[in-house]
Amino acid sequence: MIVQVLGCSGSIAAGCRTTSFLLDDDILVDAGTGVGDLPLDALARIEHILVSHSHLDHILSIGLLADSVMRARRQASRGPIQVHALPETLAALRDHIFNGVIWPDFTRLPSAEHPVLALKPVAVGEVMELAGKRIEVLPAAHTVPAVGFAVDGGEAGWWVYTGDTGPNPLLWQRLQHMKVGHLVIETAFSDDERQLARISRHLCPAALGHELKLLAGSVDVHITHIKPGEMNAVMDEIGKLGSPHRIRALAVGEVMNLSEQASRAYG
Ligand SMILES: [Zn+2]
Ligand SMILES: [Zn+2]
Repeated sequence: MIVQVLGCSGSIAAGCRTTSFLLDDDILVDAGTGVGDLPLDALARIEHILVSHSHLDHILSIGLLADSVMRARRQASRGPIQVHALPETLAALRDHIFNGVIWPDFTRLPSAEHPVLALKPVAVGEVMELAGKRIEVLPAAHTVPAVGFAVDGGEAGWWVYTGDTGPNPLLWQRLQHMKVGHLVIETAFSDDERQLARISRHLCPAALGHELKLLAGSVDVHITHIKPGEMNAVMDEIGKLGSPHRIRALAVGEVMNLSEQASRAYG
C-alpha cells in the first residue's frame, strides 16, 4: 500500500495544505485542500472518502471533488463515490454543506437515481472492507463527533491515523492489540498555546508526550496538523520529549510505502 500525503497542515498558507491522504489511488482519508493538487484523472479514480469529522479543514474538497468528476464518472458509468463517516458527520454535511445554499446536493446530482456521492454511516470499532483493504474505525476525542482510521498494511503493520483529537485513552487501549507500523498523529498547537489546545481538544507537544507513553515499543510516528508558522516551535518541543518512538514531521507530497517488500528492505 502506498499512502500519498496530499495535505498535513492545520490550515492554509503557501505550501501548506489541510489534511488529506490518498491510499493507493482510490481511497481518500479526509478531504482537505490538498485534494486539489491531484490531476483530474486521479480525482476521477477515487471511489471512497473516509471522513474523520465535520470540521471544514477535513471536508472542504468533498463537494468540489464531486463537481469535478461528475461528468467523467457518468461517462464511464461509474457508481457514486462512497463517503464514510459517523452519522453525526454525515448529518452535518447534509445540513450545512449539501443544502443547496452553500453547495448543491451532490447526493441527488446529476440525478437522484445515479448521484455522484453516497453517504455511508460508520461506527467506532467497525471494520470495513473497501477496495481490497481492511480499515477499522478508531475512537477520537474532539469538539465534534470524530474518529480516526487504521488501515491494515499486512506485514508492514497497520497505518494508523488519529484524526483531530485531544487526549484519547480509548485509542491507546485499542492500539495495544494492533501491530502499529506507522502512527500519524496530530499536534495542532505549540506548548505556548496549551490552553487553546485543551479547549479545542487538540494536542500540544506536552500532551503528545503523555499520549505516546501509552504506545508500546518504538514506532514510526508522523506528526500532522501543525498550524502554519508553528512547525519549528512544535518540532523543537517534541524533540525535547525524550520519547522512545521515532518522531518526525509529516511533509506534503511525501509518499509512505507500506508494501511488504519495502518493510523487508528496511527491516
Ligand atoms: Zn477538527
Ligand atoms: Zn482539523
